[in-house]
Amino acid sequence: EMKCKPTDTPGNVDIPALRERYRQERDKRLRPEGQKQYAKVREEFSDTYTADPHMPVVPRDPVSEDLDVAILGAGWSGILAAYHLRNAGVCSFRNIDHAGDWGGVWYWNRYPGIQCDNDAYCYLPLLEETGFMPSRKYADGYEIYDYFRLIADKYSLGENALFHTLISSLRWDERIRRWRIGSNRGDDIRARFVIVANGLLNIPKLPNIPGIHDYKGRMFHTSRWEYDYTGGTYRNPVLDKLADKKVAIIGTGATALQAIPYLGRYARHVYVLQRTPSTVDQRHNAPTDPDWAQGLEPGWQKERMANFHRAAMEGRLLPGESDLVCDFWTEISRNMSAELEAEGWPRLTPEEYATRREAMDYRVLERMRRRVDEIVRDRETAAALKPWYRFLCKRPLSNDDYYDTFNRPNVSLIDVSATRGVERMTGKGFVANGVEHQVDCMMFASGFEVSSDRDRRWGIDVFEGRNGVSIYDHWRHGYKTLHGLMTHGFPNQFFIGYYQGGLNATTTEQCSRQAYHAAYIVKEALSRGMAAVEPSLEAQDAYVRHIRETAIDIADFQAECTPSYYNNESEKVTDEKGDRKYRNFLGEGYGPGWDAFQRLLQEWRDNGDLAGLVLEPDQR
Ligand code: NDP
Repeated sequence: EMKCKPTDTPGNVDIPALRERYRQERDKRLRPEGQKQYAKVREEFSDTYTADPHMPVVPRDPVSEDLDVAILGAGWSGILAAYHLRNAGVCSFRNIDHAGDWGGVWYWNRYPGIQCDNDAYCYLPLLEETGFMPSRKYADGYEIYDYFRLIADKYSLGENALFHTLISSLRWDERIRRWRIGSNRGDDIRARFVIVANGLLNIPKLPNIPGIHDYKGRMFHTSRWEYDYTGGTYRNPVLDKLADKKVAIIGTGATALQAIPYLGRYARHVYVLQRTPSTVDQRHNAPTDPDWAQGLEPGWQKERMANFHRAAMEGRLLPGESDLVCDFWTEISRNMSAELEAEGWPRLTPEEYATRREAMDYRVLERMRRRVDEIVRDRETAAALKPWYRFLCKRPLSNDDYYDTFNRPNVSLIDVSATRGVERMTGKGFVANGVEHQVDCMMFASGFEVSSDRDRRWGIDVFEGRNGVSIYDHWRHGYKTLHGLMTHGFPNQFFIGYYQGGLNATTTEQCSRQAYHAAYIVKEALSRGMAAVEPSLEAQDAYVRHIRETAIDIADFQAECTPSYYNNESEKVTDEKGDRKYRNFLGEGYGPGWDAFQRLLQEWRDNGDLAGLVLEPDQR
């Protein structure tokens, strides 16, 4: 493989001046109402939430049954949970999902241009196990969607799944020591164990724009793309029905960026309503080189993920290590390695390293801003498209067509930062900077409820453990778990996602290791004849203390960032001790790192005594 080279970044950046500019740009966007600037989609736009434009909902009879494991979700965490249960020899399980098929976000999101922004050779799990090879570095959405089906077929996970089923209640029934699951299909499922695999991007988010309910034109969220209106299909997004339409798209995040070049190509006119610009690098989306794929040695995927994790999450590669993923996620670490190598790898304290990394951060962002000037011809538009914040204040992006789209005569960028978002909507369109623009369609690329309160975000109205305690109250002021996976008072329940565990740069790998650990506990409990397992209060307290004592504090960094779901829209919440903190959408990550967390779990399993779990035998 060709060695990945450092990028060419301007050396003459004025850091104090930039820091000040970043603050001004942040302040311009701060909104005192924080999360409350968004509508409660499940209540105010329930059609948007429940409608499925991709697949008809087929009536079915309610299911009433006893089951070993219910897996709530059929996205990556859900399918990986099924896979690991299957491998552990647990057979009685079902995935249940609101969507009409496997895929989670990759089921719902079918907007034109959808691709994964992460290296597919890391992001797509189980590549060595399934023998599948993605066709290119950043996979198209439908390739990922199809890959779900491949996994489900290969491991026979599909026959049990219940799709188009929305969970409405989840209650621990002490009498039968099972979870009772109710749904919008009238089901009554009595599951011994529940794996909550409901994902992070499951509920679309809509801004509370004044007048949003008055608009009479077509309106949809990008995760519910209406091809019957735009023309084209998921696999062939020729949006020919937009030829005589004026459309507006709200947002310029990961989703909008991919869709906008298609809108520019096909619509009569496109208004892009931007509040905060993204960082947009070159994509370099090369097809998979067959010789490279042929030459891969067993274990290659784990090695690649570990390499990516060091570069993207730990912030440094090992001396002499090459950057295998070689993209915008790893650029700063790669450039740091090149600098240090040129100096013969001097010994730096963590503080010295952080200072130098910060300088590289400013240089890389300056490179991004210059990239805008090189491509976008209109000076005012170019200026508005430049990002002013540090790397990882928002999700970094890459796209080869985005900036050039603003050179088209039928595309207008409208900067709505002065009003901290779209000012107003009317019956016919929207108002920006005092001017009404009439449009046939408003498309919302406004994201998902990533860091809002759980009762908003989970969409399960009743979720009660022992003694009727609601999970929403139980975790009101912060997580309390053992290993980020189980919590006291909620026996036989596992949570996959971002809670209190090790973080990996590859989110699917993180879900997979959590699912593996959950499958181990389920198998052990079943084979030991246990009706219920849950963490003891002491074990949970000890773990929570450990994770807090070893935590890495990023509050200062979050405070300097422009608002986004990365810092809970710059809104602080109160923790158990009454301290005010920004919520982190990654939960409370394990400070000593991913490898240390994996060792902790491995040793715990190797001991074989399920330490810290209270086991209740099945007496019947
Ligand atoms: P985001 O939350 O990233 O972006 C939402 C956009 O809507 C932002 O530009 C936001 O502006 C804007 N917005 C919100 N409210 C208003 C308002 N009142 N007026 C004007 N603009 C507004 O959502 P996405 O769907 O783009 O992405 C969500 C996440 O999904 C990504 O971060 C990523 O994790 C994942 N994703 C991954 C993809 C991939 O791998 N290819 C592709 C798409 C998504 P502001 O920034 O100012 O808040």
